[in-house]
Amino acid sequence: MQGKHLGNRLDALLRPEVLGLALYDPGADPDTLLRQYGLGSVIKLSNNENPYGLSPLAAQAMQRRIALGLGRYPDPSGKALCAMLARKHDVAADRVMLGNGSENLLELLCQALLGPGDRVLTQAPGFSLHEIYPRMMGAHVHKVPCTDTFGFAAAAWRQALAGPLKLVFISNPCNPLGTAYSTRELQTIIGCTPPDCLLVIDEAYFEYAIACPGYPDALALLRTHARPWMVLRTFSKAYGLASLRVGYGIASEPGLIEALHRVRTPYNVNLLAQEAACAALEDTPHLEKSVALVTRERARLTQALRDAGLRVAPSMANFLFVDTGTDARQVVQALHRHGVIVKAWAEPGYQTFIRVSLALPADNDAFLRALLHVVAPA
Ligand SMILES: *Cc1c(COP(=O)(O)O)cnc(C)c1O
Repeated sequence: MQGKHLGNRLDALLRPEVLGLALYDPGADPDTLLRQYGLGSVIKLSNNENPYGLSPLAAQAMQRRIALGLGRYPDPSGKALCAMLARKHDVAADRVMLGNGSENLLELLCQALLGPGDRVLTQAPGFSLHEIYPRMMGAHVHKVPCTDTFGFAAAAWRQALAGPLKLVFISNPCNPLGTAYSTRELQTIIGCTPPDCLLVIDEAYFEYAIACPGYPDALALLRTHARPWMVLRTFSKAYGLASLRVGYGIASEPGLIEALHRVRTPYNVNLLAQEAACAALEDTPHLEKSVALVTRERARLTQALRDAGLRVAPSMANFLFVDTGTDARQVVQALHRHGVIVKAWAEPGYQTFIRVSLALPADNDAFLRALLHVVAPA
């Protein structure tokens, strides 16, 4: 039987954890929609990318590198970029590590720490990879829900953190809510996380949130605690390098970084990505322009959606979490016909919600018009 070499026997070869694993949902593909609906253009608001793209300085750095040649392996640990990041964050370089996107670091953390039966805690709603990677290792994932008003459920967190735990994954700001825990709330989590459990704070949207009043300085808080922790950041969002795949982690101690080096693939961050990230770090004007756009558009679109009677979580990130009041998958399908791609949320309790990335004003307006056409036809 052609193409069915293993058939049912494949199930016996695969680890049971892999058999039941959910596939990561990247959202719809723009090219497919263009063809399917004969659209002139598609607006992709499903992956929280930077509409300005990467810094022109990063593009130049890559062009220079291409001219010099790409035939050799890159520096295996990205020393130059790590040194820049260490200086920027005032930590020793042996406490910094690069990943092929910060997702790579999430994966490496799970590979280094978790085995079957281990317990992991994360948020609901939350980032799917905070659940998929632990499950891949056979760990049990428990999720702490937010309150009815998208807030911090203090009692539920205290109770959940009391149990035996290996790893805690939280994103702050939270993907998909966009909301962030305050300093006090983060202090509660840090204080209640068992000392033998690794606390990971995924700050993929840090650069957007740091401009918002009340956003906590997690690195500063964690530095004062003698406990294992890791803070994750990425070049994919505010820096606009999503296609190049570079993220980084800062750890409580060099030993944790060393463990991750042992489980990673030796050249996990490619040379162009390393060079582009170094250049992007230096281009403060591009970052500021990108954050300013989001700050303006976030306030404007939140207000417009609320004025239309829709519930929107208060966001500190470059996306909004919106209750459409109806099956989000149907809303997303209908939006496709208008040439707009957003993400339908699939977690129980949130299946009427969509997550929409903030983009250029005209694209945000096109989304708003299409959404109001779909959910509230006149
Ligand atoms: C987008 C996102 C990431 C992925 O970042 P990469 O660096 O592109 O891998 C990680 N964590 C959260 C919470 C995100 O939303």
